[in-house]
Amino acid sequence: MYVCMRCGNTFRREEMEEYFKDFRCPKCGYRILKKVRSEAVPRHVKAV
Ligand SMILES: [Zn+2]
Repeated sequence: MYVCMRCGNTFRREEMEEYFKDFRCPKCGYRILKKVRSEAVPRHVKAV
């Protein structure tokens, strides 16, 4: 899984490759992506 640093869209590599043969966000085309673990929920949410 990857997350776009611009729009926050998360997507899989296969999805991305359907749109571009490149490392880009399928939604906005931005090229700064962060790799995240598949299906993992971010753990930095604190209980309030
Ligand atoms: Zn994006």
